[in-house]
Amino acid sequence: MIREFNILRNHGVQFVPDLKSVELPGIFRGRPEISSNFSAAEASMLIKLCPVNAIAAKDPAPGITIDPGVDIAIDMGLCIFCKECAFACPEKIRFTNDYKIAGNVRQSLVIHKGDKSVEFNDRLVRSEVRKLFKHSLKLRQVSAGGDNSCEMELNAAGNVNFDMGRYGIEFVASPRHADGIVITGPITENMAEALQICYDAVPHPKIIILVGTDAISGGIFRESKAVQRAFLDKYPVDLYVPGNPAHPLTFINGILRLIGK
Ligand code: SF4
Repeated sequence: MIREFNILRNHGVQFVPDLKSVELPGIFRGRPEISSNFSAAEASMLIKLCPVNAIAAKDPAPGITIDPGVDIAIDMGLCIFCKECAFACPEKIRFTNDYKIAGNVRQSLVIHKGDKSVEFNDRLVRSEVRKLFKHSLKLRQVSAGGDNSCEMELNAAGNVNFDMGRYGIEFVASPRHADGIVITGPITENMAEALQICYDAVPHPKIIILVGTDAISGGIFRESKAVQRAFLDKYPVDLYVPGNPAHPLTFINGILRLIGK
């Protein structure tokens, strides 16, 4: 018996005690920060440099006009966090270790100069989501052409370190037992029907969470003919969890915001 106690003591604390305030090491690439304007040459260089057109490639928000000669924006829903832009302009772009970057509005993932956080719009959360899922949320994961990176991080969200089960958040095997689906991967044509069947099998009310750049925008595969994302045109998305792959803390904190915990 004493031996077992000693083993337990030597194991120490295995779990992260507070998932909302833990500090990640500097090597982690979280929310980008843009500190100042760019010259026209710099902006044009950055736009060409970005392999996925995440830098002011598209209108970042309705009504906001970006002048590539003055101002740029980084879309975390497209970004693959390669950090090439920060290497090219280290004095103006840096990647912070802020992991609370999930949002419930697609445009909130677009980072502008001076942004210090990702906005979460509580008013847009459906009332039944918080009423029904605040204390227990069961999710079915669908890897829709994923490369197993986000899937591994989602597995980690339930391990002894992150232990999202402490909040009543769990993955379940059957969509019949789930309150929503978590989609990873760009949604390939081969998985489109399976995704629809899975979604249909989840009882109402149900939520949709997109995890990782591939799921949010198609990522590096978005121009591929093998991608079929029509599913996302049919239903509202409740939570966008950026990252390439997304970090377990981003996923868990995003869900906690969504369910109001
Ligand atoms: S870190 Fe993101 S925004 Fe910067 S170059 Fe890479 S993909 Fe583009």
